[in-house]
Amino acid sequence: MNKFWNRFLDALYPRGITCDVCGGELTDGDDRFISLCPYCYGHMEVNGSGPQSVAKCDVYSLFKYESVRDLILRCKDGDCPYLATTIGRLLYRYYVEKGLSADAVCYIPCGKKAFSRRGYDHMELVAKEFSKQSGIPLSHALERIKEVSDQTDVDANKRYDNVRGSFVCKEDLTEKNVLLLDDLVTTGATLSAAIHAINDASFCTVRGLTLGKA
Ligand SMILES: [Zn+2]
Repeated sequence: MNKFWNRFLDALYPRGITCDVCGGELTDGDDRFISLCPYCYGHMEVNGSGPQSVAKCDVYSLFKYESVRDLILRCKDGDCPYLATTIGRLLYRYYVEKGLSADAVCYIPCGKKAFSRRGYDHMELVAKEFSKQSGIPLSHALERIKEVSDQTDVDANKRYDNVRGSFVCKEDLTEKNVLLLDDLVTTGATLSAAIHAINDASFCTVRGLTLGKA
């Protein structure tokens, strides 16, 4: 069923034919792997700073949030789940370029309410694509047990309070080198809650990787 569904989506949204951001047709000289035209790819502003430390773990981010905001929001809430392929591949390419390593891929899952509203979990799809490209097994270890409303106008300390205890880790990841994917890091509150859940369940190494950094 899954295979059939994937083929159906591929037929509906063929990869590498048009740019995922502007819709312009791609030519042979363009980057069909990530399905972005040189103009749109060139407008993604590289995050120049090194990894951010969240709950004593390194979190790497590819781009400045503003420059990938639309891509993330369309993938997450804009009914464009196919954009997860582009995001997953961008993350994978960065992972290879930076020489990072991992033997389990996890992601920050959405809550049940968000899932039923959207019909999919965009970060699960991103992580699936990352796992497909890298061959690193996908782990659905994290579950969001507490849903927090939009945190954009909440200050940093309050964010940490709000998301504490939001996740449980359902899998034993002991001795694994875990790569935890998310779309965006701002204060690091959400990633921190997820990392604590993983560390509570297992003795393992965790690294974070996000598309955007606000
Ligand atoms: Zn474009």
